[in-house]
Amino acid sequence: MFKRILIANRGEIALRILRCCREMDIETVVVYSEADEKSLAVMYATEAVCIGPAKAADSYLNQDVILETARRTECDAIHPGYGFLSENAEFARACEENGIVFIGPSSQVISRMGDKQSARRLMMASDVPVVPGSKELVNSPEEAAAIAEEIGYPVLIKASAGGGGKGIRKIYSPEELKSAYETAKAEARASFGNDDMYLEKLIENPHHIEIQILADKEGNTVYLGERDCSIQRNNQKLLEESPSALIKEAQRHEMGQTAVRAAKAAGYFSAGTVEFVVDDEGHYYFIEMNTRIQVEHPVTEELTGIDLVREQIRIAAGMKLGIIQEEVQMRGHTIECRINAQTPGVIEFLHFPNGYGVRIESHLFAGYEVSPFYDSMVAKIIVSGRTRLEAIRRLRRALEELIIDGIETNASFMHLLTFHPDFIKGKYSTAFWENNHEEIEQWRKQGETA
Ligand code: ADP
Ligand code: ADP
Ligand code: MG
Repeated sequence: MFKRILIANRGEIALRILRCCREMDIETVVVYSEADEKSLAVMYATEAVCIGPAKAADSYLNQDVILETARRTECDAIHPGYGFLSENAEFARACEENGIVFIGPSSQVISRMGDKQSARRLMMASDVPVVPGSKELVNSPEEAAAIAEEIGYPVLIKASAGGGGKGIRKIYSPEELKSAYETAKAEARASFGNDDMYLEKLIENPHHIEIQILADKEGNTVYLGERDCSIQRNNQKLLEESPSALIKEAQRHEMGQTAVRAAKAAGYFSAGTVEFVVDDEGHYYFIEMNTRIQVEHPVTEELTGIDLVREQIRIAAGMKLGIIQEEVQMRGHTIECRINAQTPGVIEFLHFPNGYGVRIESHLFAGYEVSPFYDSMVAKIIVSGRTRLEAIRRLRRALEELIIDGIETNASFMHLLTFHPDFIKGKYSTAFWENNHEEIEQWRKQGETA
């Protein structure tokens, strides 16, 4: 097992990994930017090293400095968390070449799956249903128009290097195509330094259903059920739950086996997620694979009792999966709610919910300064119950206990969201936010004036 792991991330996920290392008796080196000097990760780590200014490009994305720090502090592995360098094949390769284990799949697999168009090609060849769309990259608006004509509008133009919902635009008619193509391409270039584009049919009002998998280096691969992440704002997830109200046992099994097939086709090891969109009739289509730990991984942990970060570390160290498919059991219902900061500022008072069935993942403390430099997520509230209704009631109760003074957050909005009839019925698609956010916002404003 590793002696020392470098954590190349910040915020709640840095803490999540740190805590796991503590439990496994592994020392930790945390790298941090000047903006994160006063953070729990820096305080909890065995050793903390400042690697540069706030701007991510100069710190958390600085591959050379991170590798050099790992070498100098004698780390045998690097955990990249999510975002930042977690899906960067070049960085994974540099780790491999320097004899430092990258805690994730091989660099080869990351480049194979991280490029979304090439992942689509591999999936098509492996009998995994993909969304109808372009077979190659799309190089001009004219090419895009021809393919859109063929598969039929509406379509989506998507960045092949995309992530975090960026570089995606809906196109409903030929007239909209050119400008959508160009804005998506420009956004891709700005966000990913890569503006390769591809085209997919827009599945209207689908569910976002993803399958968590675990695979070891011997090829043993299991699926750990689904997460329904259809509550999204601008293609970014806000709330995730499992099991999905849409998925029956037979389909769970089928999609799980499909995800395992996808992972095997890619030569995958580590924890990973295969994402699908599912239409109302239950047809499902591969959209991408996330070759990293995901924000919403605790949902699966609560349902299965499997510590996904621990498994990731064990697999990276060459150990065999401790579980076979037949042993995977899921109990009850779990919901995760993301709490996002809407303004930067100093936390003046903080109280987190607690009690039966509640888990909090957060790097906040009273006095902590939420800076404007990074992702706005400041906490995850994860609740579990025997049934979906029990979990919903627990989530409401938890959000009622939550106090974060000093910054604006989406907490009261999310609380009201849990009262929406479509949410209560479990009848929602990725269109939920678009269709309902104004109404929920109205409720919130009424509450403020009452
Ligand atoms: P998840 O599927 O795990 O919920 P998200 O799309 O919410 O993933 O992304 C998790 C984090 O990673 C966010 O901070 C997001 O901004 C960031 N992220 C995701 N993909 C990329 C990418 N390709 N490049 C940079 N950051 C990314
Ligand atoms: P990212 O890498 O940014 O996470 P994804 O390909 O996973 O990009 O797409 C992000 C979100 O956009 C999905 O969760 C889904 O809500 C929506 N989406 C993606 N592809 C399609 C599609 N073909 N039809 C309908 N919605 C889609
Ligand atoms: Mg995605």
